[in-house]
Amino acid sequence: MQNIQEFIALLKSPSHKDKELITHAFNFAKKVHENQKRFSGEPYFGHVFEAAKTLIELGMDAPTIAAGLLHDTLEESAITEAIIEKEFGKEVAFLVSGATKIDKYEYRGQERHAESLRKLLLAVSKDVRVLIIKLADRLHNLKTLQYVRPDKQRRIALETLEIYSPIANRLGMGRIKGALEDLAFPYAYPKEYEETKLLLKLKSKENQKYLEKIYRSLSKQLAEEHIKPISTDYRLKHLFSLYKKLKRYDMDINKVYDLAALRIVVTTVADCYRVLGIIHGMWRPLPGRIKDYVASPKINGYQSLHTTIFTGDGGIAEIQIRTPEMHQEAEFGIASHLLYKEGERNPYKEEQLLGKKTAWIKELAEWQKQVAESGIFLRELKTELFKDRVFIFTPDGDVVDLPEGSTPIDFAYTIHSDIGDHTAGARINKKFCSLNTKLKNGDIVEIVTKRGSSPSTKWLEYIKTALARKHIKAAISKTARN
Ligand code: MN
Repeated sequence: MQNIQEFIALLKSPSHKDKELITHAFNFAKKVHENQKRFSGEPYFGHVFEAAKTLIELGMDAPTIAAGLLHDTLEESAITEAIIEKEFGKEVAFLVSGATKIDKYEYRGQERHAESLRKLLLAVSKDVRVLIIKLADRLHNLKTLQYVRPDKQRRIALETLEIYSPIANRLGMGRIKGALEDLAFPYAYPKEYEETKLLLKLKSKENQKYLEKIYRSLSKQLAEEHIKPISTDYRLKHLFSLYKKLKRYDMDINKVYDLAALRIVVTTVADCYRVLGIIHGMWRPLPGRIKDYVASPKINGYQSLHTTIFTGDGGIAEIQIRTPEMHQEAEFGIASHLLYKEGERNPYKEEQLLGKKTAWIKELAEWQKQVAESGIFLRELKTELFKDRVFIFTPDGDVVDLPEGSTPIDFAYTIHSDIGDHTAGARINKKFCSLNTKLKNGDIVEIVTKRGSSPSTKWLEYIKTALARKHIKAAISKTARN
């Protein structure tokens, strides 16, 4: 039975006001859901309780936890947003209405789905906490998916893999992304799930053996060099990300080198590089597989050093090196910047951080306003989120991430619409290239603009981003009118 004292006890140093707000939300939600049951036959309140618990684990603030408890109350016809606002204030009311699903409306097929996504994106672009509530909600729904009708199971699982987990990934929330994917995978693709699970099982034993051996020699060497890791563990690749990788390699598991990886956490950045040096002194690294995400973090904020080495006895193993801060970022991403620390809030810094990390959500929300037809919106949203990304550099070293297959035109429009509209040519790694060249990870791209240049309809054949499409179409129709 869920009880309020135990719930409050989970909070980290709550203020009196926090406790009051959360207690009120707890009792309110309990009352509203009093006679409701989940498909599992369990009392409905258990669902919002679990979702709110996840929010506590993510370190969310009191209004977000309260909104988590209340996130399904608006489904009850008697409860309106006005009531929530009167009881809990504007902030909580906004979070609740943003996170409220609109499943209660009449089923309108695909369109309904797109509609609820639009609503979600708009709310999220105003306040990313809405999304974190949705992720916590979805996580518990997936944990209880076995009680749901099979056709609905598959829809929810696919939606999770196509929309929610890519968003969690873009926000750097590695732990929740992995959990969502592994829960949804068996329902979305049962056959592929079984196949992947079997492959992993067969291969991970062998892999583990190599890692253990490396770990023993490395520990000795680190001790000699007076480096004391904070923690060392193995991480097994999440099943769904393994499956995605296997698909790229014709399901040949021998081509996947990071099935299991040794993960070493050390105190400082300098120690990360020292450990990398020590490793390379002991084993030969595979060329092209040393990745310095410390100096060049992934676009979602992920940082670590990665290297893959020949173990010397026929094996190949991946090692990841990071600090505790990098580890926190990799697991919780944006959520760790929203961490509730009393007296430690720095609104300016938070805004900077959040503004940068969620700019792409604002962009999606902005652009969806202009897409009239829901089917197209949904399809393009999926492509934008699901596609693998390439990281492209400006000549100044700024990173732009684009969907795989993007061209210099996509790059130009991502920098600025004005640059896109006047693109006349492009240099990739200092060499002139045609505008339909597909960009590769790490390319340095410089756009050459000319005042008199304007977009050509031809560009539409090879661009990859919705942003470029939108601007090119607008520019073309403008010229046509003049
Ligand atoms: Mn819910």
